[in-house]
Amino acid sequence: MADDPFENMLAQMDRAEEYADVDHGVFERLKSPERTLKVTLPVELESGEVEVFEGYRCQFDSSRGPFKGGVRFHPSVTQREVEALAGWMTWKTALVDLPYGGAKGGVICEPKDLTERDLERLTRRYTEGIRRMIGPEIDVPAPDMNTNPQTMAWMMDTYSMYEGYSVPQVVTGKPLEIGGTPGRVEATGRGVSLVTERLFEYLDRDLSDASIAIQGFGNVGSNAARLLDEAGANVVATSDVTGAAYDPDGLDVAALGAHVDAGGLIEEYVAGEYRGSASGSTWDDPDQITNAELLTLDVDVLIPAAVEGVITADNVDDLRASAVVEAANGPTTVAADKALTERDIQVVPDILANAGGVIVSYLEWVQNAQEFSWPLETVNAELERRIGSAFDKTVEQYDTKELPDLRTAAYTLALERTAKAHEYRGLFP
Ligand code: NAD
Repeated sequence: MADDPFENMLAQMDRAEEYADVDHGVFERLKSPERTLKVTLPVELESGEVEVFEGYRCQFDSSRGPFKGGVRFHPSVTQREVEALAGWMTWKTALVDLPYGGAKGGVICEPKDLTERDLERLTRRYTEGIRRMIGPEIDVPAPDMNTNPQTMAWMMDTYSMYEGYSVPQVVTGKPLEIGGTPGRVEATGRGVSLVTERLFEYLDRDLSDASIAIQGFGNVGSNAARLLDEAGANVVATSDVTGAAYDPDGLDVAALGAHVDAGGLIEEYVAGEYRGSASGSTWDDPDQITNAELLTLDVDVLIPAAVEGVITADNVDDLRASAVVEAANGPTTVAADKALTERDIQVVPDILANAGGVIVSYLEWVQNAQEFSWPLETVNAELERRIGSAFDKTVEQYDTKELPDLRTAAYTLALERTAKAHEYRGLFP
């Protein structure tokens, strides 16, 4: 069960239903998506070969507003995974109170084996495939794993070509030059850092010098590391697919960031093969440990910021962190989650911890609709206000209803808000 993300999501909902004030009929409806489109995508590759890809767009629930959710390019994409991720987007947008529903898209492919031209053709063909179900007021895609601002630019251009005029607000996460917003790239990492700070305030603990291990040093992990380092915390370990760098006295986060930005790998950094300005680092060389070892380090906070299903029944008893902030989507299996609750380890759930990305996507969409752009300070202030308020409401729900954990509190709030929208709108016809 734990390996199926959809079952994982249903189990999280079931756990919250007990405490949520939600009509059972509405709850049953919320266990399945509104619709999922499967598209077959023949693409002529640069090699001259025609390869047929398969893609999906799932629209989970639109009771609170237009659908919103990323597009993922990955070999392990499945319909079930896309549907689970669309469900999580529904709970996330409801929890942080954005006027959106939840959606997700995916294409089964290995981006590493495709050229830039292949990726452009695949993106355009996929956009054509789903174009009848997206639109600024209908469904607004964004980047996810292996997609980026360039992917969004191709999607926006393809959609706009069919419409006959530029429609920037059909996607978010665009480059600045075509309607993107300042602050979007680092938004998720900034949100992770902000909720970690709030968690420490709530627990009445001092973040300065708190030790932090971050699995994954990509977009989310590296920005969270930089901002937490700036906030005074001590980032002692981080990783990529090649393994983890660990120094109990703290890592030189700026040098590591410069190395990775220049295309470097963690194992090279540990071996002293610095790229970019990292060569100027005067810090001690860290030790190389495995990703599995990183997860069980004796730290104040563990931040999984890489892939799904890394905290499982097999390793949960070895975890020594006193808090977990879930930057990745679905990093904890249901069985492991129960064990963390029993061990009194506070977990800030993914739908809250990584909501900074969708919050700033919403701010991009609002600016596009207004045909007006905001400065970075305004975007960051609005992000902080919204994610801070969602954190406070989750904690209030947890305390006043005496719920077992913060995840149940977050789901209870999200389910109640979505069910309320269904109740007001009524049942068509
Ligand atoms: P990314 O591709 O930029 O970075 C992923 C990092 O994880 C890289 O350092 C990579 O080497 C590492 N990694 C990949 N597979 C690994 C493995 N098996 N073991 C250890 N490390 C591994 O991705 P990202 O945008 O930083 O996203 C990370 C997570 O955050 C994902 O779960 C994603 O769904 C979630 N998330 C991202 C955003 C966003 O705005 N980017 C928003 C919400 C949630």
